[in-house]
Amino acid sequence: MRITVLGCGNSTGVPSIGCSCDVCLSDNPKNKRSRVSVLVEEQGVNLLIDSSPDLRQQALQNNVLRVDAVLYTHAHADHTMGIDDLRAFNYLSGKTLPAYGNTSTMDTLVARFPYIFAHKTDKIFYGASLSAHSITDAPISGFEINGISITSFDQIHSKIKTLGYRIDKFAYSTDVNILPETAFEALAGVEVWVVDCLRYTEAYSHSHLEQTLGWIDRIKPRLAILTHMAHEFEYDRLSNELPTGVVAGYDGMVIEL
Ligand SMILES: [Zn+2]
Ligand SMILES: [Zn+2]
Ligand SMILES: [Zn+2]
Repeated sequence: MRITVLGCGNSTGVPSIGCSCDVCLSDNPKNKRSRVSVLVEEQGVNLLIDSSPDLRQQALQNNVLRVDAVLYTHAHADHTMGIDDLRAFNYLSGKTLPAYGNTSTMDTLVARFPYIFAHKTDKIFYGASLSAHSITDAPISGFEINGISITSFDQIHSKIKTLGYRIDKFAYSTDVNILPETAFEALAGVEVWVVDCLRYTEAYSHSHLEQTLGWIDRIKPRLAILTHMAHEFEYDRLSNELPTGVVAGYDGMVIEL
């Protein structure tokens, strides 16, 4: 399995427009964070988690030429607004792309982008073409895409629920400030975990460093990768502060497992 961190930034991205802090002005490419997304390549199946507003640049920079399905964590703009750019993968494959999420996420996306989810009778795509698949709203659900087993699990993101995803030994947990016990069950034995960590100080709908490190200590993955990071985190400074087995993500990071 190969994981590519396409983006690891908070909802504004880093640099943040108009900000002149040392991180936003930094020349270190690892301090340039586009909006969160990962590509999971498993047994020849390419699964994209979320379609960030930066999807086009992410696909160009990482040479992503095929997506077989999109897994949505939730419908917030920083996770969905690149949806129109998924048409590139419709053009390349000649197929409608299946999109998965919980009922609330898929209902929101279908209402917001009816033209994308409208049934197309021919194979000529003028816009993006997705089919909506709602995952059962159980705290933990299992389903398959092209023979790949996927487990989704509920996470609390302030007022809404997001889905975490587990694919074999990999798991992805963004946009979460409370992990229910069922999420810990779904994460047991995971090897590589990409996990929300917005900043040093407590946040309303995200996890902060101390809490995320506590979760990691409980789940004990071989490698934990922090994501959804805001401009409070300077890459080198943060990296020096992290315990063994925990790293800050960066755009373009690739993990083979
Ligand atoms: Zn977000
Ligand atoms: Zn800044
Ligand atoms: Zn969110």
